[in-house]
Amino acid sequence: MDKNQARGESTTGLSEWKQRPPYRIHEPNENFNARYEANCHCGRVKYQLSRQEPLDSKLCHCTTCQTQHAAPFQWAAVFHKEDINFVHGHHDLEWYDPTEKSIEHKLPCKVRCSFCHSPIMDEGRNMILLFPSLIHLKTDEDKAFFKPRCHMFYGQRVMDIPDGLPKWSGLNNESEPIEDSPPETVREFERKREEERAKRFEEGKNE
Ligand SMILES: [Zn+2]
Ligand SMILES: [Zn+2]
Repeated sequence: MDKNQARGESTTGLSEWKQRPPYRIHEPNENFNARYEANCHCGRVKYQLSRQEPLDSKLCHCTTCQTQHAAPFQWAAVFHKEDINFVHGHHDLEWYDPTEKSIEHKLPCKVRCSFCHSPIMDEGRNMILLFPSLIHLKTDEDKAFFKPRCHMFYGQRVMDIPDGLPKWSGLNNESEPIEDSPPETVREFERKREEERAKRFEEGKNE
């Protein structure tokens, strides 16, 4: 979007962020490759994705996700904001800021269909976490791209999932690998932590 257009939009009272990714509608001449199609339950919210494979795919067991999704856990796939094209832009969407418990667009926030209230995505500062249950994954190959790769906030789970995937007590790669995590994940984590400890010691920052 050029500067004039941004200025024009602001005078019409349309929030500037609604013109930016992930809400910016891609122009037909942009060669946006619609690799996947998705929609909410009522069909008012439709989007396309250009990236074949999500940056990550994970299951979150945190109590916020349990409440927000009314489900034992939540499945999210991570994409860049430029990877998505909402066919109707910001229209038919509503926002919820779980930190402030307000319906303002304040990052990070939850995004839903304003009519059927299907959860659409979590919008972070740099990335979006889409809920793949809305995406039409037609082939086994496509399903394999989206297959969950780890469990987050597994310490808050309501049920065990003994699938052998890495399981983190909190955020993935930032918390402890626990329970059913593969031994190599635990070993790698311990190795990394020992390296960091040794580095801190070398720099004289230890104690
Ligand atoms: Zn809907
Ligand atoms: Zn969560």
